[in-house]
Amino acid sequence: MVNGLQLFERRQNAVSQGVGVFVPTTTKSARGARITDLDGNSLIDFGGGIGVVNAGHCPPPVVKAIQEQAEKLLHTCFHISTYEPYVALCERLINLFPHGGQAKAMLTNTGAESVENAIKIARQATKRPAIICYSDAFHGRSMMGMTLTSKINYKLNCGPFAPEVYRLDFPNVYRRAGTRSESQFAADELRNLEHFCHTHVDPESVAAIIIELVQGEGGFNVAPIPYVQGLRHFCDRHGILLIVDEVQSGFCRTGKWGAYQHYGIEPDLTTWAKSMGSGMPIGAVVGKRAIMDAATPGTIGGTYLGNPVCCAAALATIDYMQDQQLNQRAVALGQTVMDRFRSMAEWAQPIGDVRGLGAMVAMELVRDRKTKTPHPDLCERLCALCLERGLILLKAGGDKNIIRVLSPLTISETDLKEGLDIIESSMRLVLEEAHV
Ligand code: PMP
Repeated sequence: MVNGLQLFERRQNAVSQGVGVFVPTTTKSARGARITDLDGNSLIDFGGGIGVVNAGHCPPPVVKAIQEQAEKLLHTCFHISTYEPYVALCERLINLFPHGGQAKAMLTNTGAESVENAIKIARQATKRPAIICYSDAFHGRSMMGMTLTSKINYKLNCGPFAPEVYRLDFPNVYRRAGTRSESQFAADELRNLEHFCHTHVDPESVAAIIIELVQGEGGFNVAPIPYVQGLRHFCDRHGILLIVDEVQSGFCRTGKWGAYQHYGIEPDLTTWAKSMGSGMPIGAVVGKRAIMDAATPGTIGGTYLGNPVCCAAALATIDYMQDQQLNQRAVALGQTVMDRFRSMAEWAQPIGDVRGLGAMVAMELVRDRKTKTPHPDLCERLCALCLERGLILLKAGGDKNIIRVLSPLTISETDLKEGLDIIESSMRLVLEEAHV
């Protein structure tokens, strides 16, 4: 049997270093919220494969559905021969996400593909070229996904990027609201948007605005409700489509099927992936029927999109999420994490902010609460110590100074408490080392 070190050596020899290592662990197998590594250690997983295993690792009914589907059919290509799991999954999705009326859906393999297709559909539906996106956004590593993504490290020397993409500042309350109330800040940000449309791009040439309502890679920045409602009105006034990227926030993570369901708005298009298939490569674009049908036949799709085994996994995942009441579970779990982080912030000065929505909870580490200067070193050390103590923890944010929790929503109370205890004791040690 290969051990962890040996596998890393083989990886270094055989795999491009461009495929980054975010956490230096290995995995032999995983169940629920626990990963067993190649050296036999059992790790608590607060990373969830970057938000993919909301329903836990290898949920038994999903594994069974995959096995049964694999026996029947692996592939035809949906363009060549129509099979039921694809249609059944689209039916489920448009039921969960009616988009204010009757929706339609298409399936993809990944989050980036969902974004890519949503943009193509929006352009075809509006016959307009421009797209507006946000600072700190992450929308994937395809060419359009990368263009829309904010963080430079994800796209170093990969340009030229796609044209007609304009970037607005994200309404980041912690970083930018100052002493303003949330509603005042939202009103000011909406005024900035109007101004942006005089100085940067004519709104009549904008096909869509794409936003993560809770930014994932950006560090769980939650867009204020009045801002998003104002954004919806702005889009309506100018015939711009509102695309909500739910790739990380979707499928029970925030305590609802989609984060947009907290906001009292209906998007025109939504993009999905990650936890939808419990780890199988599947995503979707869902949207208003007329918009989805504006795509000319043949312009969206692909060989593998909506593979039958992946569709079966997604259908079983949705059933399992419903059976296990994962939305309710996410609310309770998020509250537990939020309470613990807030109580840590009482003694840990570098915790500048604790925020989130449902079970999407983060803490932002800063050198000084007044200047809010990011503290990536502390964040790095904290994650390393947690890993030594058996907890996988992910960083986020353009400055890598944010800790985010994306544990499976099925995690047991014992594992959750143990994970939070590890974060707390590691924080004490890090602060002692740093003499804070
Ligand atoms: N959008 C968002 C909001 C994401 O968080 C991600 C992945 N982190 C993507 C798109 C891209 O998804 P994928 O890696 O499956 O292409």
